[in-house]
Amino acid sequence: MGNIEDLESRYIINTYNRQPGSTPHLVKGDGAYVWDENGKKYLDFLGGLAVNVVGHCHPGVVEAICRQAGILSHTSNLYYTGPQAILAAELVEKTLPGGKVFFANSGAEANEAAIKISRKNKPGRYKIVTAERSFHGRTMATLTATGQLKYRKPFTPLLEEFSYGTFNDLTSFETLIDQETAAIMIEPIQGEGGVYVAEEAFLKGLRELCDREGILLIFDEIQCGMGRTGSLWAFENYEIKPDLITVAKGLGGGLPIGALIAAEKYTDVLQPGDHASTFGGNAVVCAAALTVLKIITDEGLLAGVKQKGLQLEGGLKNILTQFPSVQGEYRGLGLMCALEIDQPVAKKIYEKCTTEGLLINAIGDNILRLLPPLNIKESEIDEGLSIIHKAFQETIS
Ligand code: PLP
Repeated sequence: MGNIEDLESRYIINTYNRQPGSTPHLVKGDGAYVWDENGKKYLDFLGGLAVNVVGHCHPGVVEAICRQAGILSHTSNLYYTGPQAILAAELVEKTLPGGKVFFANSGAEANEAAIKISRKNKPGRYKIVTAERSFHGRTMATLTATGQLKYRKPFTPLLEEFSYGTFNDLTSFETLIDQETAAIMIEPIQGEGGVYVAEEAFLKGLRELCDREGILLIFDEIQCGMGRTGSLWAFENYEIKPDLITVAKGLGGGLPIGALIAAEKYTDVLQPGDHASTFGGNAVVCAAALTVLKIITDEGLLAGVKQKGLQLEGGLKNILTQFPSVQGEYRGLGLMCALEIDQPVAKKIYEKCTTEGLLINAIGDNILRLLPPLNIKESEIDEGLSIIHKAFQETIS
């Protein structure tokens, strides 16, 4: 059959740009580390793109998956299943008490549900406003919602009636709202766009704007939720609540799940037949998600996230001060952070980090993004920082 790289290039559509010879072939994970086929160990500061919030192969999550897989894994949604109902109760009580959940399999699907609820809520109100630089998914509706032309352009014509305000500029959103607007959809911290944190006045202003206009405020917490900022949801840092919140990535601890949580007022908008998912809320993924939620909220993990976020921030800023030829900016909250530098060397630094045994992410030419597991150790953060420092030394002249 050939080796994995040959099989991949022959049989998998090349949407991920993996590079033979330099992209690791990963075979094993444990905590904050993964190993490649040659036994080389990597510290994972990317966490499966914000998915592995409790690290790789957390024993509690592995146990929950195996236990549920041995009892009952899939039934379709024509029947009641325990893990789904219990997970829904946990999510609602911890997020929007009085509300309800729709389960999907991914972030994009959770956002699709949010868009459908917004459009069905009030006849005649169908326009959705999102932010420039946002990312909401790759399905046709969520691609349309995504405020980045480079992703939308090859697939036009897209859905109608989406528009894009400027992140952190309330006035630009106010001018886009009219009598046909159904909702504003926003990431409290933009992830794929380069890690931009919403200002408090902006998010509070959006909340007031939506209340005034009688439209829905949707928070896409697919990347910034699940404890990443040191509170379960990023919106808790702002003392406001959304009408709808979408969650995915970290929720399943590595298994695919998406969830839309609707505040009480919007729980009856979708009626039987309006929306569905064959796999959504599958018993095994829900058992995994229940365990992830329990670990995050029971083990005092969240308090540690803020502390470790500060450690990472301090270390990254310290690296910047040691390379005065580079102008850089740290952005982030908790363990979701980025370094933007004025030299187009992000990819080079990322490649050097990979060679040295650290997985990070480069966004474009100038931004490095870090999303380590929430239970990462302080010593592991120091280890990662020293690799980033070395990569800077070897890259910056
Ligand atoms: N929304 C945000 C904020 C994301 O970061 C992502 C993925 O990166 C998505 C939606 C799409 O999620 P998925 O890839 O699970 O469909």
